[in-house]
Amino acid sequence: MFQDLTNRLLGGDRNALAKCITLAESQRQDDQETIRIILKNVLPSTGESIRLGITGSPGVGKSTFIESLGSYLTSQGKKVAVLTIDPSSPITKGSILGDKTRMEKLAKNPLAFIRPSATRSFPGGVSHSTRESILLCEAAGFEIIMVETVGVGQSEFSVKDMTDCFLLLMLAGAGDELQGIKKGIMEMADIIAITKADGNNVKNAQQACAEFQHALHLIRPDDNGWAPKVITCSAIEHAGMAECWDLISKFINHTKSTATFEQKRKEQKITWLHDQLNAQWRGQLMQNQLFGERWNEAIGKISENEWTVFEAVEQLTKRN
Ligand code: GDP
Repeated sequence: MFQDLTNRLLGGDRNALAKCITLAESQRQDDQETIRIILKNVLPSTGESIRLGITGSPGVGKSTFIESLGSYLTSQGKKVAVLTIDPSSPITKGSILGDKTRMEKLAKNPLAFIRPSATRSFPGGVSHSTRESILLCEAAGFEIIMVETVGVGQSEFSVKDMTDCFLLLMLAGAGDELQGIKKGIMEMADIIAITKADGNNVKNAQQACAEFQHALHLIRPDDNGWAPKVITCSAIEHAGMAECWDLISKFINHTKSTATFEQKRKEQKITWLHDQLNAQWRGQLMQNQLFGERWNEAIGKISENEWTVFEAVEQLTKRN
């Protein structure tokens, strides 16, 4: 069964890609076994895309921007995949990006593939299968993979860890606090795009562009010769998309010419190995009844200040 699925995936069949991502997202043992064989078989056909992380506060214009940039890229004949990580809000527990249908036009484009994944069950707000999904999209021949997340919680840190270029969307005129943007996210950005630079907002956007460029210069030193850049764009008027893509391409070329591209990809694989091993070990331990009992005891004891965390670890790791 999986040979046929693998062949269809490699042939660029979108239904096969969707099915493979569903397998990767599944918690079932047999699904996990199937997708691991498929991933092993398609590995030589992966790694060739540009992986682009996109973040920004709710309402900043992410889906409109992705639709506009995606349409620009598909008009150039490029195959574009969009993976959306939708963390649940820690307060409302609901999805942050909202359940509304997003990027309707791009979703119908034969050169595009859009896959949202809600991550309600994962506290860090990151889909455990996004890395697999990236590889699967590459195996299906997608050349640009945009991974979208909301600039809250931890998800943007994980997205940074899976992508080659990190793009932060911001608005002119809204304070950083209002935009929920932490300094840490600005430090991570390779490119900042000031969105909604249209109508009465053009001047503000240009001013914000200069201010952010200055601020970035102070908070983030050149990284191997790349000084993070700020641009303005209007997704609604489809303005600035070619410039934005040009900047992304320049960044990618720069990192390739300084060998940081390959280095970063290698480090990302090692981070994945750590994450996977931690998850696997934890999963195995939790299945052990004795460990489960000790775990509950440790949680109780540290909550009541009876044990330090170090004592808890000692108890949890003793042999019997
Ligand atoms: P997201 O929550 O970050 O994905 O934001 P959306 O893409 O859903 O956009 C939020 C709102 O901003 C919508 O009402 C959009 O129509 C509007 N919007 C998005 N991009 C632009 C833009 O370039 N110009 C203007 N004027 N409005 C925009």
